[in-house]
Amino acid sequence: MTKYAIIVAGGSGERMQSGIPKQFLLLNGIPVLMRTLFAFYNFENQIQIILVLPKEHIGYWKNLCAEFDFDVDHKLVAGGETRFHSVKNGLAKISNTESLVAVHDGVRSLVSQSVIQACFETAELLGIAVPAIEITESVRMLTTEGNQQLNRSDVKLIQTPQVFKAEMILKAYRQDYKESFTDDASVVENMGEKIHLIPGNSENIKITTARDLVIASALLQNMQSI
Ligand code: C5P
Repeated sequence: MTKYAIIVAGGSGERMQSGIPKQFLLLNGIPVLMRTLFAFYNFENQIQIILVLPKEHIGYWKNLCAEFDFDVDHKLVAGGETRFHSVKNGLAKISNTESLVAVHDGVRSLVSQSVIQACFETAELLGIAVPAIEITESVRMLTTEGNQQLNRSDVKLIQTPQVFKAEMILKAYRQDYKESFTDDASVVENMGEKIHLIPGNSENIKITTARDLVIASALLQNMQSI
Protein backbone atom coordinates (compact mmCIF):
# COMPACT_ATOMS: atom_id res chain seq x y z
CA MET A 1 0.00 0.00 0.00
CA THR A 2 1.22 3.52 -0.76
CA LYS A 3 2.13 5.38 2.41
CA TYR A 4 1.75 9.12 2.90
CA ALA A 5 3.02 11.27 5.76
CA ILE A 6 1.39 14.67 6.21
CA ILE A 7 3.72 16.65 8.45
CA VAL A 8 1.86 19.61 9.92
CA ALA A 9 4.04 22.57 10.77
CA GLY A 10 1.59 25.30 9.83
CA GLY A 11 1.47 26.96 13.25
CA SER A 12 3.24 30.22 14.00
CA GLY A 13 4.70 28.93 17.30
CA GLU A 14 3.82 31.85 19.56
CA ARG A 15 4.54 29.81 22.72
CA MET A 16 8.26 29.58 21.92
CA GLN A 17 8.61 33.40 22.21
CA SER A 18 11.34 33.35 19.60
CA GLY A 19 11.07 35.20 16.28
CA ILE A 20 11.48 31.97 14.34
CA PRO A 21 8.70 29.36 14.64
CA LYS A 22 9.78 26.40 16.77
CA GLN A 23 9.73 23.92 13.89
CA PHE A 24 12.71 25.75 12.27
CA LEU A 25 14.90 26.04 15.38
CA LEU A 26 18.04 23.90 15.61
CA LEU A 27 17.89 20.71 17.62
CA ASN A 28 21.49 19.57 18.14
CA GLY A 29 22.59 21.37 14.97
CA ILE A 30 19.75 20.36 12.61
CA PRO A 31 16.33 22.11 12.29
CA VAL A 32 13.56 20.34 14.23
CA LEU A 33 11.49 19.90 11.07
CA MET A 34 14.31 18.31 9.07
CA ARG A 35 14.77 15.77 11.84
CA THR A 36 11.03 15.00 11.64
CA LEU A 37 11.14 14.45 7.87
CA PHE A 38 14.24 12.25 8.27
CA ALA A 39 12.32 10.06 10.74
CA PHE A 40 9.72 9.19 8.05
CA TYR A 41 12.24 8.97 5.22
CA ASN A 42 14.43 6.61 7.27
CA PHE A 43 11.38 4.45 7.94
CA GLU A 44 10.64 4.11 4.22
CA ASN A 45 12.44 6.13 1.57
CA GLN A 46 9.50 5.75 -0.86
CA ILE A 47 7.04 7.40 1.56
CA GLN A 48 5.17 10.37 0.06
CA ILE A 49 5.84 13.32 2.34
CA ILE A 50 3.48 16.32 2.31
CA LEU A 51 4.79 19.20 4.40
CA VAL A 52 2.35 21.87 5.58
CA LEU A 53 4.02 25.19 6.41
CA PRO A 54 2.83 28.69 7.32
CA LYS A 55 2.45 30.45 3.96
CA GLU A 56 4.78 33.24 5.04
CA HIS A 57 7.55 30.77 5.94
CA ILE A 58 7.71 28.74 2.71
CA GLY A 59 10.58 30.87 1.37
CA TYR A 60 12.40 30.62 4.70
CA TRP A 61 12.13 26.79 4.58
CA LYS A 62 13.44 26.65 1.00
CA ASN A 63 16.49 28.69 2.04
CA LEU A 64 17.02 26.42 5.03
CA CYS A 65 16.90 23.34 2.75
CA ALA A 66 19.57 24.89 0.52
CA GLU A 67 21.72 25.83 3.53
CA PHE A 68 21.59 22.30 4.99
CA ASP A 69 21.72 20.44 1.62
CA PHE A 70 18.44 18.83 2.63
CA ASP A 71 17.27 16.56 -0.19
CA VAL A 72 14.47 14.43 1.30
CA ASP A 73 11.73 14.62 -1.34
CA HIS A 74 8.50 16.37 -0.19
CA LYS A 75 5.55 18.40 -1.47
CA LEU A 76 4.92 21.80 0.11
CA VAL A 77 1.44 23.03 1.08
CA ALA A 78 0.37 26.26 2.79
CA GLY A 79 -1.22 25.90 6.24
CA GLY A 80 -4.65 27.05 7.37
CA GLU A 81 -6.19 28.89 10.30
CA THR A 82 -6.07 25.91 12.72
CA ARG A 83 -4.40 22.49 12.72
CA PHE A 84 -7.63 21.04 11.28
CA HIS A 85 -7.46 23.39 8.29
CA SER A 86 -3.75 22.67 7.79
CA VAL A 87 -4.36 18.89 7.73
CA LYS A 88 -7.25 19.42 5.31
CA ASN A 89 -4.94 21.35 2.96
CA GLY A 90 -2.44 18.48 3.14
CA LEU A 91 -5.13 15.86 2.45
CA ALA A 92 -6.05 17.69 -0.76
CA LYS A 93 -2.70 16.47 -2.20
CA ILE A 94 -3.54 12.77 -1.74
CA SER A 95 -4.10 11.20 -5.14
CA ASN A 96 -4.18 7.49 -4.23
CA THR A 97 -7.17 6.67 -2.00
CA GLU A 98 -6.08 3.01 -1.64
CA SER A 99 -3.35 4.12 0.73
CA LEU A 100 -2.41 4.74 4.35
CA VAL A 101 -2.06 8.30 5.64
CA ALA A 102 -0.02 9.30 8.70
CA VAL A 103 -0.58 12.76 10.13
CA HIS A 104 2.29 13.92 12.30
CA ASP A 105 3.10 17.11 14.21
CA GLY A 106 6.20 18.69 12.68
CA VAL A 107 7.47 19.49 16.16
CA ARG A 108 7.61 15.83 17.22
CA SER A 109 11.06 14.95 15.86
CA LEU A 110 11.76 12.21 18.38
CA VAL A 111 9.22 9.67 17.20
CA SER A 112 10.86 6.24 17.12
CA GLN A 113 11.13 4.03 14.03
CA SER A 114 9.30 1.25 15.87
CA VAL A 115 6.32 3.51 16.68
CA ILE A 116 6.05 4.66 13.03
CA GLN A 117 6.16 1.03 11.92
CA ALA A 118 3.60 -0.16 14.50
CA CYS A 119 1.23 2.70 13.57
CA PHE A 120 1.30 1.79 9.87
CA GLU A 121 0.95 -1.96 10.55
CA THR A 122 -2.00 -1.48 12.91
CA ALA A 123 -3.74 0.96 10.56
CA GLU A 124 -3.37 -1.47 7.67
CA LEU A 125 -5.10 -4.11 9.80
CA LEU A 126 -7.69 -2.04 11.72
CA GLY A 127 -8.00 1.19 9.72
CA ILE A 128 -6.78 3.42 12.56
CA ALA A 129 -3.74 3.59 14.85
CA VAL A 130 -3.05 6.30 17.41
CA PRO A 131 0.00 6.23 19.73
CA ALA A 132 -0.58 6.91 23.42
CA ILE A 133 1.57 6.92 26.55
CA GLU A 134 0.93 6.37 30.25
CA ILE A 135 0.55 9.30 32.64
CA THR A 136 2.99 9.30 35.55
CA GLU A 137 1.56 12.33 37.38
CA SER A 138 -1.61 12.27 39.50
CA VAL A 139 -4.55 13.72 37.58
CA ARG A 140 -7.53 15.83 38.72
CA MET A 141 -10.56 17.00 36.79
CA LEU A 142 -12.14 20.38 37.52
CA THR A 143 -15.80 20.12 38.61
CA THR A 144 -18.47 22.69 39.52
CA GLU A 145 -17.67 22.03 43.22
CA GLY A 146 -13.89 22.21 42.86
CA ASN A 147 -11.94 19.21 41.58
CA GLN A 148 -11.89 15.45 41.73
CA GLN A 149 -9.19 12.81 41.37
CA LEU A 150 -9.18 10.74 38.19
CA ASN A 151 -7.75 7.24 38.09
CA ARG A 152 -4.58 7.89 36.10
CA SER A 153 -4.62 4.42 34.58
CA ASP A 154 -7.91 5.43 32.92
CA VAL A 155 -6.21 8.36 31.14
CA LYS A 156 -3.58 8.40 28.36
CA LEU A 157 -1.57 11.14 26.65
CA ILE A 158 -2.08 11.09 22.89
CA GLN A 159 0.72 11.60 20.38
CA THR A 160 1.26 11.48 16.65
CA PRO A 161 1.74 9.92 14.05
CA GLN A 162 -1.94 9.06 13.82
CA VAL A 163 -2.39 6.71 10.88
CA PHE A 164 -5.61 5.98 8.96
CA LYS A 165 -6.80 4.32 5.80
CA ALA A 166 -6.99 7.20 3.32
CA GLU A 167 -10.72 6.84 2.57
CA MET A 168 -11.56 7.15 6.26
CA ILE A 169 -9.52 10.28 6.99
CA LEU A 170 -10.55 11.96 3.72
CA LYS A 171 -14.23 11.43 4.64
CA ALA A 172 -13.67 12.62 8.24
CA TYR A 173 -12.12 15.90 7.09
CA ARG A 174 -15.21 16.68 4.98
CA GLN A 175 -17.00 17.44 8.29
CA ASP A 176 -17.43 21.02 9.43
CA TYR A 177 -14.74 22.26 11.84
CA LYS A 178 -15.40 22.04 15.60
CA GLU A 179 -13.23 23.57 18.35
CA SER A 180 -12.95 20.13 19.99
CA PHE A 181 -10.91 18.86 17.01
CA THR A 182 -7.43 19.02 18.57
CA ASP A 183 -6.05 16.03 16.65
CA ASP A 184 -7.03 13.64 13.85
CA ALA A 185 -8.44 11.00 16.20
CA SER A 186 -11.00 13.54 17.48
CA VAL A 187 -12.09 14.30 13.88
CA VAL A 188 -12.41 10.62 12.91
CA GLU A 189 -14.13 9.73 16.21
CA ASN A 190 -16.74 12.43 15.62
CA MET A 191 -17.77 10.43 12.55
CA GLY A 192 -18.50 7.42 14.79
CA GLU A 193 -15.26 5.45 14.34
CA LYS A 194 -13.59 3.60 17.23
CA ILE A 195 -10.00 4.74 17.90
CA HIS A 196 -7.34 2.02 18.31
CA LEU A 197 -4.56 3.07 20.69
CA ILE A 198 -1.08 1.57 20.54
CA PRO A 199 1.95 2.29 22.76
CA GLY A 200 3.88 5.43 21.79
CA ASN A 201 7.46 6.36 22.77
CA SER A 202 7.80 8.76 25.69
CA GLU A 203 10.64 10.73 24.02
CA ASN A 204 8.20 11.81 21.29
CA ILE A 205 7.41 15.13 23.00
CA LYS A 206 5.76 18.06 21.27
CA ILE A 207 8.50 20.71 21.12
CA THR A 208 6.37 23.69 22.04
CA THR A 209 8.43 25.88 24.36
CA ALA A 210 12.12 26.82 24.73
CA ARG A 211 12.24 24.40 27.68
CA ASP A 212 11.01 21.54 25.48
CA LEU A 213 13.91 22.19 23.11
CA VAL A 214 16.39 21.73 25.99
CA ILE A 215 14.67 18.48 27.00
CA ALA A 216 14.52 17.24 23.38
CA SER A 217 18.25 17.88 22.99
CA ALA A 218 19.06 15.64 25.99
CA LEU A 219 16.56 12.97 24.91
CA LEU A 220 18.03 12.91 21.40
CA GLN A 221 21.57 12.44 22.74
CA ASN A 222 20.35 9.61 24.93
CA MET A 223 18.46 7.92 22.04
CA GLN A 224 21.55 8.14 19.83
CA SER A 225 23.78 6.61 22.48
CA ILE A 226 21.59 3.49 22.90
O1 C5P B 1 -0.83 24.48 17.95
P1 C5P B 1 -0.86 23.02 18.16
O2 C5P B 1 -0.19 22.62 19.43
O3 C5P B 1 -2.17 22.37 17.97
O4 C5P B 1 0.10 22.44 17.00
C1 C5P B 1 0.24 21.07 16.71
C2 C5P B 1 0.87 20.95 15.34
O5 C5P B 1 -0.04 21.45 14.37
C3 C5P B 1 2.17 21.75 15.19
O6 C5P B 1 3.12 20.97 14.48
C4 C5P B 1 1.73 22.98 14.43
O7 C5P B 1 2.75 23.54 13.60
C5 C5P B 1 0.59 22.43 13.57
N1 C5P B 1 -0.38 23.48 13.19
C6 C5P B 1 -0.65 23.69 11.85
N2 C5P B 1 -1.50 24.70 11.47
C7 C5P B 1 -2.05 25.51 12.39
C8 C5P B 1 -1.79 25.32 13.77
C9 C5P B 1 -0.94 24.28 14.15
O8 C5P B 1 -0.14 22.94 10.99
N3 C5P B 1 -2.84 26.51 11.98
